[in-house]
Amino acid sequence: MPENFMNRRSTNETRTRVRDVSPLSGMCAICIEDCDILCEVGKSALRGREILYPSPEYFGESTAASNKDYTIDWSDFQIMTTVFGAKGIEADEDKAIFPNADITTRFGGVPLNIPAIVAGLGSTAVAKRNWDGLAIGGAISGTIITVGENVCGMDPKSKFENGKVTYSEDLKYRIDMYRELWDGKHGEIVVQTNVEDERFGVDEYAISKLEVNVIERKWGQGAKAIGGEVMIDDLDKAIMLKKRGYIVLPDPEDKNIQKKFKDGVFKRFERHSRVGMPNREGFVENIERLREKGAKKVFMKTGAYRPAVVAATLRYASDAKIDAITFDGAGGGTGMSPIPMMQECSTPTVWLQAQVLRCLRILKDHGRHIPDVAIAGGFTDETQVFKSIAMGNFGDEPPM
Ligand code: SF4
Repeated sequence: MPENFMNRRSTNETRTRVRDVSPLSGMCAICIEDCDILCEVGKSALRGREILYPSPEYFGESTAASNKDYTIDWSDFQIMTTVFGAKGIEADEDKAIFPNADITTRFGGVPLNIPAIVAGLGSTAVAKRNWDGLAIGGAISGTIITVGENVCGMDPKSKFENGKVTYSEDLKYRIDMYRELWDGKHGEIVVQTNVEDERFGVDEYAISKLEVNVIERKWGQGAKAIGGEVMIDDLDKAIMLKKRGYIVLPDPEDKNIQKKFKDGVFKRFERHSRVGMPNREGFVENIERLREKGAKKVFMKTGAYRPAVVAATLRYASDAKIDAITFDGAGGGTGMSPIPMMQECSTPTVWLQAQVLRCLRILKDHGRHIPDVAIAGGFTDETQVFKSIAMGNFGDEPPM
């Protein structure tokens, strides 16, 4: 019987009165009237949406992950080694030694010293607070790091003209930090754009003013295509974000809401982003325009949506001649996903990779453009990365 019952989770600090709960509902088989234990059912009745998010008191100082057992993960695969011969190096015991292993590769045409990249780290506080270490690490490792979505829109020091960003201290800082120790050849700094970023003209600003070479389009803003959310505990900032076009709840410009916030009735506003609604023609034209604006390479980042969407995404990416695409499997991130979405939405990474490979094979069989593909979601050690790369090899020209 799994330990992660719906009604008892460490992520929202709930537990149940007894351990042998009903597997159907997660509730104690005998639910008593005078129970003094806060299970998820009881706590949500009292505190409502406050328990939707993983421990909100750690928001900005934590990452979060689903603790659901998806029944298959990288540990289900064993790496089969051999003593007969060698691949990628001469089969000579003096030459086939581990310091001679060549782990360099290319992703979207960008040379990398290591076969891993740092995916989008956007406007969340945890991404910002850890940017320096990750940017410096990415630069000296010779790999790609991506500035995630909403950075300009959330930057209080950004300047706008006619709704378009003309300056962002935070975006400039992040790019400069990476470039300080970058050798200029291996790896790249990528700027990601979601719906809001596109409206603000972040891509144009990054290309023309900050000389960024690679723009990444993001599909399904916020994990699981539900619209991203960050918590705002500053009234002025909440008003600023609403004026910039974000959806902010409750309405920070409402005098009654302002009074309740100041009286401590609630402590945080929610800033939501919009979910993009791509279609094939619009997407291909959008990417063409992006290249005309000066983007030397165009990447894509997407979540793990239903299989038909995975197939359509790769077809659109192929038609638009996207250079590289990252698929992000369930379930976790920087705390913007509600726990129920983190647990119950999207495809777990192993399954997702199988779908992606199947689609790539079809594209290949039809002679269509195949973008380079990166897989993300729950990788924590090198054996998992190795297994994913090994299983992404078609035998002749690995696309992943
Ligand atoms: S309220 Fe009921 S289900 Fe929840 S912990 Fe108490 S007894 Fe169990």
